[in-house]
Amino acid sequence: MIAQPKIVHRIIEAIRDSQTICVVGHIRPDGDCVGSQLGLTLALKNEGKKVTCWNEDPIPEKYEFLDPDHLFQRPKPGFKFDCVIATDAASFERLGEVGPCIAERKLLINIDHHESNTRYGDINWVSAREPSAGELIFRLLKTGNWPITKPIADCLFTAVSTDTGSFQYPSTRPGTYEVAGDLVRRGADLAKICDEVYQSYPLSRARLLRHVYSHFRLTHQNKIAYFWLKKADFALAGADGADTEGLIDHIRAIAPVVVACVFEEIEPELTRISLRSKSDKVNVNDIAAQFNGGGHSAAAGARIAGPPLTVQRKVIAAIKKAINST
Ligand code: 5GP
Ligand code: MN
Repeated sequence: MIAQPKIVHRIIEAIRDSQTICVVGHIRPDGDCVGSQLGLTLALKNEGKKVTCWNEDPIPEKYEFLDPDHLFQRPKPGFKFDCVIATDAASFERLGEVGPCIAERKLLINIDHHESNTRYGDINWVSAREPSAGELIFRLLKTGNWPITKPIADCLFTAVSTDTGSFQYPSTRPGTYEVAGDLVRRGADLAKICDEVYQSYPLSRARLLRHVYSHFRLTHQNKIAYFWLKKADFALAGADGADTEGLIDHIRAIAPVVVACVFEEIEPELTRISLRSKSDKVNVNDIAAQFNGGGHSAAAGARIAGPPLTVQRKVIAAIKKAINST
């Protein structure tokens, strides 16, 4: 086991000194966020802590198998915590409705791997070269000598697997495979995880995917691919926001595409954008930052107010500019 930075030991000490702990994550949680939150929650419970696990949104259906005891809960006001630990959340705002519910805390620990992390904690362990927050939680548990039980291994394997695009993104490093190997050795149920996460899409998502394939657009010599998801498209497919995870990969995977972008209608004048880059010369975190968003160099997002077509024009212009300057 390689030596961990001092900050990890500081976090372990702070946890040892705390009795009531709240583990939180970003709105619209993905596999990394859910797996990191639940993996850490289970480990802290095993250490005898009183642990609460909060997220603005309910656990997406495909990750429910990781939470048979329903630990993943919506936030409630009126609670006090010795310590709050945020995982996979680039900024305090990304905690959404959880924010005001964790005001009564002694300490805020921020464990994350986003390049855009605003270092909003009292203790910040931010490692942007790490492909997933799950890998950071794994290192934390190892350093603390906290047992990685089979349920924890399932959570952390899901986190690592989903945020690396099943070990395909260039962020994947030798250490990532070692962590994954260690988790499988500790009982992570590969067959179950892959079946639940990758082979059990609801029909609504397949209908949404049909919409994507028939409506995606290409521009800038096919280097930019994008599509819109309007509320009416969700209604027609019987889908919701949780069905969108991974849709962008289908247009990202087209050979000439350098940057893929999804525009999702949140409100008539509020659009969520999702960006993916296939070039190490085009940093989509920088593009998202122009719209007050953030993320990683290869995957980022933002929420942008304004008329949809104006938003589209501005975002596509920013992507073109980034591609042209390579
Ligand atoms: P996704 O496109 O999968 O929603 O997000 C890609 C990455 O960008 C994720 O790491 C996510 O945390 C980050 N991200 C997405 N939307 C936002 C946003 O509105 N603000 C910030 N700061 N990061 C975002
Ligand atoms: Mn993540």
